Amino acid sequence: TAADSSTVPLRAAVAALPPYVPGARPAPGARLWKLSSNENPYAPLPSVLEAIARAAAEANRYPDMYATDLVAALAAHVGVPNDQVVVGNGSVAVLSHVLQAVVEPGDEVVYPWRSFEAYPIAVAVAGGASVTVPVGHDGRLDLPAMTAAVTPRTRVVMVCTPNNPTGPAVHADELETLLAAVPGDVLVIVDEAYLEFVRDPQAPDGVDLLRRHPNVVLLRTLSKAYGLAGLRVGYAVAAPRLAAGIRAVSTPFGVSHVAQAAALASLEAAAQAELLEHVSALVAERDRVTAALRSQGWELPETHANFVWFPLAEATMDRAAEATAAGVLVRPFAGDGLRVSIGEVEANDAFLALAATWRP
Ligand code: PMP
Repeated sequence: TAADSSTVPLRAAVAALPPYVPGARPAPGARLWKLSSNENPYAPLPSVLEAIARAAAEANRYPDMYATDLVAALAAHVGVPNDQVVVGNGSVAVLSHVLQAVVEPGDEVVYPWRSFEAYPIAVAVAGGASVTVPVGHDGRLDLPAMTAAVTPRTRVVMVCTPNNPTGPAVHADELETLLAAVPGDVLVIVDEAYLEFVRDPQAPDGVDLLRRHPNVVLLRTLSKAYGLAGLRVGYAVAAPRLAAGIRAVSTPFGVSHVAQAAALASLEAAAQAELLEHVSALVAERDRVTAALRSQGWELPETHANFVWFPLAEATMDRAAEATAAGVLVRPFAGDGLRVSIGEVEANDAFLALAATWRP
């Protein structure tokens, strides 16, 4: 704008970044169902709210920089030693830290597209070069094509399973084949943000993969299944030397005291059992919604996450506007498709009623 007289050049990679468009938020007081950000519709458990309130009373103090207790709880939860876990301000921040720890300027990073929209941004900010491999029409990652895209300049391969926004999970044998073909000095990031929603018996066991392939990093989050999106807690599980590198580039004190306390309370046995019951109820809703949509005539990719994908191509933006007008916020990707999160039963019913008017 005219008022901005700054002449300081931005890094070329930063000036060229694509925008990260967050899911739409309802205006204050508006009665809209928010199915635009793959959030968990359940409110925090009372025990988690109590932990938050207790931690908030110490807001004048810095948090434990290395989140010692939370790291120990996550390590026990995953089944690895403490030195293999690194936490961060949401797994999106952890992803950036992983890339910053290993990518040299111009190194190639191979990932599927369409996939999570933070990927191109995180790669560019880390100084890497994006190499994208199209996702199949069935919404599945094409792991053979991703393997074929690896060159001597490749430093990282990213696998998103289930893939956001299309929904399918990769299969263990496909991932084994990729790992056998990719050189051991190429990092393979397996983004398991929606892990707890997966019911595909052929899905890989990430921790088992990591034990056998020390070039694997798992990315996980408490934003989805554990319902803590607003507090920003994600983590990486990696071989100790890589974990130390990720920790070294992490934002100091990046996970607040309140977030650490809420995450710890969520991992308590009783709380965790209740949270995983919520996940099961959401999985049942997902299956109800996809069955209802298929009986309306929609051909949809299989989903193992907390969302469904409508490949609507050119109709996408018009349908998204109609959804907003009908009181349902969804996430459109222009020219490609709509992603609709699984929410409250009433929200899902509102969306199903709308989809029925769209005539596949
Ligand atoms: N990975 C994937 C595939 C995601 O869809 C998301 C959330 N949209 C994230 C990572 C980041 O989640 P968070 O930063 O909340 O942990």
